[in-house]
Amino acid sequence: MKTWTILFDIDGTLTTSSGAGAGAMETTVDQLFGASEFPEISMHGRTDKSILQELFAAIGVPHDDTFEQFNRQYCLNLPQSLVDRNARLLPGVEPLLEELAELEQVELGLLTGNLKQAAEIKLRHVGIDHFFSFGGYGDLHADRNDVAVEAVESARDAIGDRFSADHVWVIGDTTNDIRCARHVGAKVIAVETGGGSTKSLEEARPDLQIPDLTNVKHWLNQLKL
Ligand SMILES: [Mg+2]
Repeated sequence: MKTWTILFDIDGTLTTSSGAGAGAMETTVDQLFGASEFPEISMHGRTDKSILQELFAAIGVPHDDTFEQFNRQYCLNLPQSLVDRNARLLPGVEPLLEELAELEQVELGLLTGNLKQAAEIKLRHVGIDHFFSFGGYGDLHADRNDVAVEAVESARDAIGDRFSADHVWVIGDTTNDIRCARHVGAKVIAVETGGGSTKSLEEARPDLQIPDLTNVKHWLNQLKL
């Protein structure tokens, strides 16, 4: 029996954090560089590496010299920012994960633009970190397509012989999630709980588009689980 690999995005898909990541970045910029103005940067669906490249260019800091230092400080600031901004699970997420975790033919992973450590902090904050044992992250890649490749490779490593490249679903809230799913030949569910407008998601043609993750039965049927 082949295993279904389901790769979840985090921000806007599993959790809503009202900009906790951006808040922690802003605090970090202030602490490390004393920059009073935080530049306007679009963050939806992007990788942290790509966001930080743009951020450092905007404030005139060399990227390669400061990336590691910034990440360490950012991850120290993130827990308080998650508390301050009331980061929480989106509707239906916990029962869905519990149900999927029960299924023998399903394995759950992450496909997120977050730094790996930041992803773990965000998921631990809302108590769902234990559901995920592999994934692709935003530490190394500026392009989300490369994160998708990393996620699939880590799924293959974790699942072994039962892994099937034809049985991969990506679940995300932006057109970038849809684009990167196609890059690795995965099927994709778009949820309207985050950064993508209903119309923009429709235009990117996911296999399924749903308002949120509350109607589990509907898409479990789609997956024929
Ligand atoms: Mg997202």
